[in-house]
Amino acid sequence: MNRIVFVLLDGLTAATARRCLSYPQTLEEAGLARYTELECFLPPLSRPAYATLLCGLPPAQSGIVHNDDKRACPAPTIFARAQAAGLVTAAAAYYWMSELCNTTPFDPAGHRLTNAPGMPIEHGLFYSNDDYPDNELFNDAAALCQAFQPHLLLIHSMGIDHAGHCHGVHSQEYRNAARRVDGLLARWLPLWQNKGYSFLVTSDHGMDEDHSHNDNTEITRRVPFWLFGPAWENVPTPDSQLEIARLILQGLGLNSKANHA
Ligand SMILES: [Zn+2]
Repeated sequence: MNRIVFVLLDGLTAATARRCLSYPQTLEEAGLARYTELECFLPPLSRPAYATLLCGLPPAQSGIVHNDDKRACPAPTIFARAQAAGLVTAAAAYYWMSELCNTTPFDPAGHRLTNAPGMPIEHGLFYSNDDYPDNELFNDAAALCQAFQPHLLLIHSMGIDHAGHCHGVHSQEYRNAARRVDGLLARWLPLWQNKGYSFLVTSDHGMDEDHSHNDNTEITRRVPFWLFGPAWENVPTPDSQLEIARLILQGLGLNSKANHA
């Protein structure tokens, strides 16, 4: 049985990923990782893009087209499908993931620490501050990984996006936030690789020089995408964010019927 870590680096534009994320490119250089770039759907906003990644529907079909829409995903998510197949699921993620996949609205007292067998994300640590430190997030993920050995683990960081909103895409603060995440990937992924995990690393949307990501521009829409590990051996490299949910289910060895046409 394959085990997958899905690393979602919020707000990381492809150009900065290529400049600042050396660890996945180290694997690429060695022929151990595949890389491509994807274009996120309009609007290039977080909650619509999360829904696309989780259930394979574009925003126009999911109906989730702005960040204040607190509805759950209207179609089964990768977590719902994995949990229904008897796999163990976990996430260290921004609280919108709990709302899209598990229960909405988010109640910090009830949902920050989630241990709920039968829910799509059975084990979760959900944060709600945009400046939640990425190193603590990876510690959260490591704790979930050690405690529950999930088949599917989402690690969803916000530090790069937050730096972009504060300083813009062309700032050293934004680049340094990406470099800090690169260091965390280099620290943690080899440890999880030794436990048999495969990895999908990508972003939801990019960032622009106006400290935002709403426009229909390349820098807000073009995102990096890496695959490495044995789970992806027979899986084609995707050319759309619509394919990511299906690809993760394929990697887990599950029936991969997509929600989209
Ligand atoms: Zn953002």
